[in-house]
Amino acid sequence: MVATEKSDRTRLMGHSGIASIPSLAIGPYRVHFLSGGRFRLDGGAMFGVVPKAIWNRVAPADEKNRIRMGMNCLLIEGDGKRVLVDSGVGTKSDPKFTDIFAIERPEKLLEDLAVLGLMPEDIQTVACTHLHFDHCGGSTTRGGDGVVRTTFPKARYLVREQEWRDAHSANERNRASYMGPNYDPIEAAGQLVLHDGDVEILPGVWMKNLPGHTLGHQGVFFDIPGSRALYTVDLIPTVAHLPLPYIMGYDLYPLTTLETKRAVLREATREGWVLLLEHDPDHLAVRVSGTEQAVTFEKVA
Ligand SMILES: [Zn+2]
Repeated sequence: MVATEKSDRTRLMGHSGIASIPSLAIGPYRVHFLSGGRFRLDGGAMFGVVPKAIWNRVAPADEKNRIRMGMNCLLIEGDGKRVLVDSGVGTKSDPKFTDIFAIERPEKLLEDLAVLGLMPEDIQTVACTHLHFDHCGGSTTRGGDGVVRTTFPKARYLVREQEWRDAHSANERNRASYMGPNYDPIEAAGQLVLHDGDVEILPGVWMKNLPGHTLGHQGVFFDIPGSRALYTVDLIPTVAHLPLPYIMGYDLYPLTTLETKRAVLREATREGWVLLLEHDPDHLAVRVSGTEQAVTFEKVA
């Protein structure tokens, strides 16, 4: 891990006793990067209209045209609370699904939690950015009896109403991303809390609407003056997606993504935000500068 101290309020925690789980201090919060494992997605789908001759240089494809992806989830600690943001793909996948997406070590999410001395019961809130399988699959787990239950039995699960509706009325274009066993048991257990629009999950920390990938797609914005940071989720999944035209083929509303991204990067580069990246296999967080047309970045985790 490269420790680059850029400010005294947003910095790496370094190699302390819990150093095997990378973490950042953001204002009063400690943000741990829990790994939901690794997987691979088609490189063409990940870069939309950008030709392979170009994207293959920054994200080399394997023999099946897939690129390496992380599932970097956040555990935010502070204000006496613990909030998990997203949960990776989870452990319910059958062998065919596991092979198609080259899923590796999805069980690492709970292992990382255990390294921090925490059990699933210790999570008070699970914030679901959207309901695609690689973001909320770990929300539920299949037990030895074959029954799928919520993984975090004492948590309230926050889901945006728009996303919940869209997941339950999926069409031929987005159906493959939505799987009921990843979220329907949350409702059955009485742990589902639907909300609309932006919602404050901790003081100064917001689930923020970032439309384009889906209509209800959200990121997590740390609105802390001097330490602003944004978990960009599928708006900017990796550093390779920092240039404006690098927009995923998966996005339902790519031109909306473009405008969301332009607005985010304009402010982020001007103020030097730290962007926390959910899918980058090599960068957990980068500090951006430059302009939205020419973003430069420095790895901070
Ligand atoms: Zn997604």
